[in-house]
Amino acid sequence: MAGNKTLTIIKPYAVNDGYIGSILSRINDAGFRITAMRFTHLNIKDAQAFYAIHKDKNFFDRLTAFMSSGPIVVAILEKDNAVADYRKLIGATNPEEAEEGTLRKLFGRNMEANAVHGSDSDENADIESNFFFSKMERF
Ligand code: ATP
Ligand code: MG
Repeated sequence: MAGNKTLTIIKPYAVNDGYIGSILSRINDAGFRITAMRFTHLNIKDAQAFYAIHKDKNFFDRLTAFMSSGPIVVAILEKDNAVADYRKLIGATNPEEAEEGTLRKLFGRNMEANAVHGSDSDENADIESNFFFSKMERF
């Protein structure tokens, strides 16, 4: 059975460009409930740990440098079928290939600055939620 939780990050450029409110509003409109949220700034070690699954990729150094370049907003989102539904809302990894109306099409600049992260499986949603939030910070 599909889980009901996913983790999102509003990435540095999207925060810097003033899109926090617009993105959160679209997340709410799509029926997701925000059950934990934090405004934070990853250091390079945190970013490397969060993206450890990509450590062998050629874009790892650029990705982790970018993700630690400025403040981000991290949130746990809940709704039925959360992982798949949220990936549909955010669109393809490359904003140029993302469907009209998706968060990455609307607010992304390029492959790196693609506005938001969304968990890719229920298992990773759990791992990523535990990475950022303690039990007492979830509602
Ligand atoms: P995310 O995990 O951020 O939700 P995703 O699951 O669509 O995105 P992944 O394959 O997990 O994509 O890649 C993680 C992130 O690494 C992407 O969001 C993107 O910013 C960056 N990335 C992925 N592929 C490339 C690439 N070929 N060149 C540069 N950056 C990339
Ligand atoms: Mg991913």
